[in-house]
Formats: sequence, C-alpha cells, structure tokens
Amino acid sequence: MKNIPFNKPFIIGHELDYIAKAVAQGHLSGDGSYTKLSNRWLEEKLGCQKALLTHSCTAALEMAGILCNIQPGDEVILPSYTFVSTANAFVLRGAVPVFVDIRSDTLNIDETLIEAAITPRTRAIVPVHYAGVACEMDAIMAIAERHELLVIEDAAQALLSTYKGRALGTIGHFGCLSFHETKNIISGEGGALLVNDERFNERAEIIREKGTNRTQFFRGEVDKYTWVDIGSSFLPSELVSAFLYAQLEHAGEITAKRCHICSAYAAQLQPLQQAGKLRLPTFDGDSNGHMYYILLDSLDTRTRLISYLKAQGIFPVFHYIPLHSSPAGRKFGRCGSSMAVTDKQSERLLRLPLHYAMSDEDIMKVSNAISEFFAPA
Ligand SMILES: *Cc1c(COP(=O)(O)O)cnc(C)c1O
Repeated sequence: MKNIPFNKPFIIGHELDYIAKAVAQGHLSGDGSYTKLSNRWLEEKLGCQKALLTHSCTAALEMAGILCNIQPGDEVILPSYTFVSTANAFVLRGAVPVFVDIRSDTLNIDETLIEAAITPRTRAIVPVHYAGVACEMDAIMAIAERHELLVIEDAAQALLSTYKGRALGTIGHFGCLSFHETKNIISGEGGALLVNDERFNERAEIIREKGTNRTQFFRGEVDKYTWVDIGSSFLPSELVSAFLYAQLEHAGEITAKRCHICSAYAAQLQPLQQAGKLRLPTFDGDSNGHMYYILLDSLDTRTRLISYLKAQGIFPVFHYIPLHSSPAGRKFGRCGSSMAVTDKQSERLLRLPLHYAMSDEDIMKVSNAISEFFAPA
C-alpha cells in the first residue's frame, strides 16, 4: 500500500546545483549572491520596495515586533486561530496579544470585531491570511489609519496570493513570509520580511545584522561598522538561499499545481457537501492553493475520519489549538471578542494531504476514502 503523507518536501529545478555553486563561490554565510537574487525576485514579483530574507517567518515576525517599537504592556490585535509565532513574536517584546474571533467563511480575522478590541494601549494589528486567502485588507487598513496603528501581515501561507490585484504581504506596513517545508515554496526553514514603508528600511537592515550597520558598511555608506541598536542574527545561510532561489524560479508552476490539487479535491468532494456531510472551503481565483481543508460536523466525526484514513495510509492533519485556550495564550494574552467561531471551527477542521508530488490518482484515493467513510459500500 502506497502511503499518502500530509506533506513531502520536493526538489523542482536547480536546488542542488545552486548549493554547489554557493560552495564554489566560497561564501556560505548570509547576504551572498543567492540571498540578493531572492530578495530582488520577491521585490519584483510581489511589487514591494524592500524584501529581506530571514531564517524563518517567525524571525520576520520578531523583526516586525522590534521595528514597531512594541513596549511592555502594549497590545497587539490578532486572531486566536493561528500559529503560535503570530503571537509569540510580540510577547517577546512584552506585548499583550488581544485575540479576536474569525469569520466563519474564510476563517480569517473578523474585521468587524477589530475596532471594539482597540484600547489606548493598542499598537498594531496582525492579520493572518489563512490558507493563503486574503483578509479584508481595505477595512483593516482603514481601521489602522483611523487609530494610528501599524499593520503586520502574517503572510506565511500566502506567497503569490493577491487582494484586489496586490500581492499579500505588500499591503500592511510589514509582511512576513515563510519558506518552511510545509509551505508552497520551500527552503527547509526560511522566511522573508517585506518592508512596505521605506521609513523602516535602515533600521530593518540593522536589526537583521545583530544591531550593527554592517549592511550599510558593505554598500560603502559608512566607513566602519559598529553596534548601533538592538538586533539579532536573522539572516539565512547562502546554502538555504541557494535552495530557495531555485524554487522561486519555478514559483508559477508550483502554485498552479497546488491550485489544481485544490480544484480536484473540490470537484471530488462536492457531492458530500451537497449531501450535508461536510463543508468545503471557499476559494476565489486570487489565492495560491496553499491548503485544502474540510469542515466536519463535530470533533467526534473528525476523530473517527482521521483513524479511518490513517488505516488506509492517508495522513491528514488538524490544527490549531486556539491560542486563547493554550497555556501560554492564557498566561500572556486576553480575548478581545467572543471566540465562538474559533472554538467551533478549530474542532471540526481537517487538512487533507497536499504537496507538489501528489498525483491525480492520490487525490482520487483520498477523496474516495472520504466518500466511503460517509457512505460505506
Ligand atoms: C508557518 C507559519 C508561521 C511560521 O513560519 P516559520 O517559517 O516556520 O517560522 C507563522 N504563521 C503562520 C500563519 C504560519 O502558517
């Protein structure tokens, strides 16, 4: 029996050649030629004035926390239904994450609940584009402007998705991308900070280089480099950037394949939705095929379906334990709205296998197994 894993890292082009070239060039630390090529690729393809590769999206979020000048006791508004780094990056600065419920259609932060969660301590909003589907950015940016807040888009899942023609990650003051092996374009671990407001350019470079002005020194803008601010080591090695650049060269193909897998799942599972057995996600043509999930009627059905699929070598996954009910979320954060939708959907959501190497046959096998679960032959 051939197993169908949830995810499978893949190579699509010149990954190994470029790693060999990086070695031959004799530059393996950060900011060599492949990091620069990747930064430029992101700037050109996404339409962003400055992209800086990092070693993870978590690192990019942490850089954004420092750049926003978050102080202890400040508040940051974000969904509870997200990965821990969305909150943790700001908790590291002493901030209180204030959780707001999600919309039941996209599972993105419910923009109509944000304003009521704002207090005099609020400094920033962190919308998360769940499954690569855009949050309501016009409404969110208007709220931010009215209350003089900064917006950090957690676009970890959203590379090459758009909102009204603009790339996700380029709309807020900052955008954070991930190239973790479970995302669309991968480098094992990896990420990028998109700086969309040039007032932050210089400090972003300094924070990324351990609080030094080394980047300006290499450009010949200062005659020696020194410690000028707080910071950390947020650069990826050239080995990682070389792998990443080879993937970026095939980004269109990878995105198209993932969108195809999502459409194929949707076509196969449509009858089950019509029969009221499950709910399928609603995607528009502007998203990047990052994820395919189904919403079941209860936690019990989800648990039984997972066992049923695993017995057939199919490995779906669920996430997230909502942050407001996690031990650290309770300790450091608070709720800024009811959590009714978050609590309900997080127990019912199941992510189906989705990776570049999946065949149409694999998709059929997963879909058929789900159909058989609901209508045993
Ligand atoms: C994957 C993910 C992250 C973290 O990305 P890393 O590159 O693993 O640090 C953050 N936020 C969201 C929404 C994610 O899906």
